[in-house]
Amino acid sequence: MTSLSGITPSGRLTLGNHLGALRRFTDPDGFYFVANLHAMTTKHDPRRLATLTREFATLMLAAGVPEGTVFVQSDVPTHAQLAYLLECTSYVGELSRMIQYKEKGKGRPMTRASLFTYPCLMAADILLYGAERVPVGGDQDQHVELARDVATRFNREYGETFVVPRLSKAALATRVKDLQDPTAKMSKSDADDAVGTIRLLDPPDVIRRQIMRAVTDSENVVRHDEATKPGVTNLLEILAACTAGDPVELAASYTSYGALKQDVADAVLAVIEPLQKEYARLATDPGAIDHLLAQGRDRALEASSPRLQAATRAMGLAGSA
Ligand code: ATP
Ligand code: MG
Repeated sequence: MTSLSGITPSGRLTLGNHLGALRRFTDPDGFYFVANLHAMTTKHDPRRLATLTREFATLMLAAGVPEGTVFVQSDVPTHAQLAYLLECTSYVGELSRMIQYKEKGKGRPMTRASLFTYPCLMAADILLYGAERVPVGGDQDQHVELARDVATRFNREYGETFVVPRLSKAALATRVKDLQDPTAKMSKSDADDAVGTIRLLDPPDVIRRQIMRAVTDSENVVRHDEATKPGVTNLLEILAACTAGDPVELAASYTSYGALKQDVADAVLAVIEPLQKEYARLATDPGAIDHLLAQGRDRALEASSPRLQAATRAMGLAGSA
């Protein structure tokens, strides 16, 4: 089973992105990409996009994502090429029902057309590699559903071409919450200076300070209880994820919030500091990064081209043989 995952450079990467995504990108036969084409569906700054794309790719490599599996989406033209063919296989009706478009674009004339069509690009990302199962979080169900519908329709109208993917619920992943508002998810698109968001590349002393200032409650009892103690529970979950421990058992070893926060800070930095060191080391050798990304690009291009060609021919775009 091919493992495939993209991560959109829409803000600086967070601890949540690392624990929930990056560190799980471990399949040497996988395809892991910086989804930069998906970062242009709303107004964007080209320089920031270029910087973030490079930062993401470097962090993926620094995090130990297997060599040869990492690439930048726009380096592999088959994604955009198949996306167009899939736009010609999708209906306005089904795209109008997509949540992102409904929430951010519908009825607004200055909405980018790509906010309407990006689900076709996402379907292309999935279908190009013949992934059978797509392990994603609940927020992605609708996208995989569309990829299924489009693949089924394509196969019916033009002949068997795509593997129809199945949704598979990702194993329960840690959901890191915001340190200042522990009922909300930590997200990379949070404001750059949000103190509740831990950025992977922030200085260690800043990260430690953020953890020491995390919102808790006034009970001063360390207990795992998401409903009534979201702040403390989030800290326990982070500690567990960083030390491969059990959050409920860990709670029993603490009698004060201060001691818990110290240990969370130590554990988070034990994960982040080696990552930062490796990032800094790699960043001094841009040629090596280019080389690794070229390797990833070539492998992705080779793996995705046959399906693009099959789809191209099936739709009657014969051209020069
Ligand atoms: P955005 O605000 O742009 O949606 P995000 O931080 O939610 O940014 P995504 O691009 O939506 O990031 O998701 C990238 C990957 O990171 C996904 O696999 C997602 O499940 C994971 N992820 C995002 N936030 C968290 C979090 N707080 N805890 C655990 N995993 C997370
Ligand atoms: Mg998100």
